Amino acid sequence: MRLTVKKLSKAYGFFWALKDLNLDLPPGELVALLGPNGAGKTTLLKLIAGLIPPSLGKIELDRMPLSHANGSSRAQIGLLAPAAHLYEDLTVRENLQFFTSLYGWKHDAGNISSALASVDLSDRADEFVSTLSSGMKCRLSIAKWALLKPGLLLLDEPYGVLDGSGVDLLEEFLKAHCRKGNLVILASHHVSRVLKICSRAIILHQGRMTFNAPRQQPWPDFDQAFREFLPHGEA
Ligand code: ATP
Repeated sequence: MRLTVKKLSKAYGFFWALKDLNLDLPPGELVALLGPNGAGKTTLLKLIAGLIPPSLGKIELDRMPLSHANGSSRAQIGLLAPAAHLYEDLTVRENLQFFTSLYGWKHDAGNISSALASVDLSDRADEFVSTLSSGMKCRLSIAKWALLKPGLLLLDEPYGVLDGSGVDLLEEFLKAHCRKGNLVILASHHVSRVLKICSRAIILHQGRMTFNAPRQQPWPDFDQAFREFLPHGEA
């Protein structure tokens, strides 16, 4: 999926949380979305996910305005955020059955079991989601998106709740997902982690995009932008 953003702006009252953002991201990119607290990262992800409307500007998916997108185009966008969209009163397995049905798939018990095994949740399959820890819920969300395979996956600071093996499986999943031609945008304060896996980095600062370039090694332009806008380093 290709994502194009044109002069995108979002105001909350008189405050511009995002101003005049232009982006053109082809399929296969793994984008690190960086910036200090309040920079506008979550606002951008919510706009792209269609959860809030823009004040000005356009968002296009494969050249079609998001505002005109039908259910099947919107189903191509996944959002993995701390308040994960899971059903607490369904079991772990029932959640995956529900989402695969919702996305119009016949749920295949074998696929669901292997998705749960891949995130090490097989032994919790028949427990209610409300009984899981935050890290386990995050793992379940990874299994959900691994099954649903969205063309555009948005992640809002997924690292906080994951342990070491959870981080490894998330990163392996994201790299494999992009290798298949899907687009991933990953907002995080874990700068050194995301820089290792991204193909491009974007920095937002006070609602404006101050840096956008493909990853290089070494990367003096990024280092300069990072020092200027993220003077205190990682959160
Ligand atoms: P963080 O790294 O802290 O998560 P962020 O880069 O994700 O920050 P946003 O959550 O997008 O930042 O917020 C951008 C700005 O918009 C902030 O100043 C925030 O206070 C403001 N903001 C966000 N949501 C709302 C809202 N619903 N109403 C008013 N202001 C908001």
